[in-house]
Amino acid sequence: MHYDYDLFVIGAGSGGVRAARMAAGYGARVAIAEERFLGGTCVNAGCIPKKLFSYAAHVREDFEDARGFGWNVGTLNFEWERLRENKDREIARLNEVYQRLLEAAGVRLLRGRARVLGPHRVQVGERDYTAGHLLVATGAHAVVPPIPGAELGITSDAAFFLPSLPKRALVVGGGYIAVEFASIFNGLGVDTTLAYRGPHLLRGFDDDVRQFLAGEMEKKGIRILFNTRVLALQAGASGRRKVCFGDGTEEVFDLVLFATGRAPSSRGFGLEQTGVKLADNGAIMVDEAFRSSVPSIYALGDVIDRLKLTPVAIHEAMAFAQTHFGASARRMDYENVPTAVFSHPSVGTVGLTEAQARERYCRVEVYASAFRPLKLTLTPRQERTFIKLVVDGVTDRVLGVHMVGPEAGEVVQGFAVAIKGGATKALFDATVGIHPTVAEELVSLRQKRAAPEEMGDL
Ligand code: FAD
Repeated sequence: MHYDYDLFVIGAGSGGVRAARMAAGYGARVAIAEERFLGGTCVNAGCIPKKLFSYAAHVREDFEDARGFGWNVGTLNFEWERLRENKDREIARLNEVYQRLLEAAGVRLLRGRARVLGPHRVQVGERDYTAGHLLVATGAHAVVPPIPGAELGITSDAAFFLPSLPKRALVVGGGYIAVEFASIFNGLGVDTTLAYRGPHLLRGFDDDVRQFLAGEMEKKGIRILFNTRVLALQAGASGRRKVCFGDGTEEVFDLVLFATGRAPSSRGFGLEQTGVKLADNGAIMVDEAFRSSVPSIYALGDVIDRLKLTPVAIHEAMAFAQTHFGASARRMDYENVPTAVFSHPSVGTVGLTEAQARERYCRVEVYASAFRPLKLTLTPRQERTFIKLVVDGVTDRVLGVHMVGPEAGEVVQGFAVAIKGGATKALFDATVGIHPTVAEELVSLRQKRAAPEEMGDL
């Protein structure tokens, strides 16, 4: 059977673009369909604009710290529109870069929503295309709780394009997108409240990190309401939102941002009709080679809901392309994937949390320290930094590295290589630090923390 293409990719986001380019590099005839912007969520409404906003929010602290270093700074004056427009310009540039990369790789780009018509057939606009392999890389979308008035709130998608900054904002949620946006708003001068139904932020992260981060965010002026449900939103005067909380109280905000989770975008474009099996949450179920229950249909990235991160989607795409179009099979390795949360202060982490380590290993040793970084000693800022190592007491292997503090992602990325390589605590100890840095503390931890059973009531 002759197909129009060897590979037809649906979705030109982080995973789709990399899979298309690599498969084409291996000599496959490739087409890719995109209904919105090239680069997908990360480039247009995720990692990149979020980090640019986060930088903007940090600048205010830099101005505040300046006095301690001898600088006099005039009246501060922030223009949201300028930041938003500059960000838009940079994203438009990146969109073009993605287009050029696809063209240079010889990938045919089709603009429009793709519909799957069968195991080897896709429709875009008025035309049908056939392909030996279909790759679904359609990402995920924000979900909001099913409460009355939910449509009066926004999600992160709209937060990147706000016409003006609110005076008073409520961020609903406790995951990384919630803490990042609460930090951005707060840093840009918005009176910010974060409401979360659980008792701690950042589910899945190390418990010490979760507690430490909440304390530092509160110190910066973010009001955090734990164990708090939002029951309903009502339209108030001048575009305001009245929010009814689970404890019966009401408050008025200028903006309510729901950061309450993201669901795989697997429905509404014909996939269900082909018999592709989906998990209850809509994730496309795939095997190690990213093959779905329909042998010619593959999926990767956020739509398979393993680790919803751009570098993970990219690694999955490289494993997919090499396995199906290259010379040899390549498996995706989900062990020890490092990650950062760009809250203020930021979080960096790789490997196991202390709780996970205690479940899997019988002798776990913990080294931890909290301190005021040198940079802040000349400033009034009382922010502290936290670092932690989780070690297997039997083999001495470092199982987890955790940090809350400035540039935690930059620090932990390097340590992730060591963890991936199976570094021991002795190897950390034998590594000479770079002085004076925050990162050197991670190779200078000598004092073991008492095991929980020895700690008593602290
Ligand atoms: P996407 O990048 O979402 O791409 C999917 C593409 O498919 C989209 O362009 C969509 O328009 C298109 N599409 C969908 N259906 C169709 C159709 N039927 N036809 C044609 N096109 C279609 N990750 C990090 O690693 N670091 C971060 O700091 C980070 N920050 C984030 C912040 C926010 C606010 C959000 C929302 C996400 C963030 N992420 C971050 C996650 C990251 O963006 C995703 O993991 C990544 O984009 C997933 O890539 P993907 O290829 O699976 O999907």
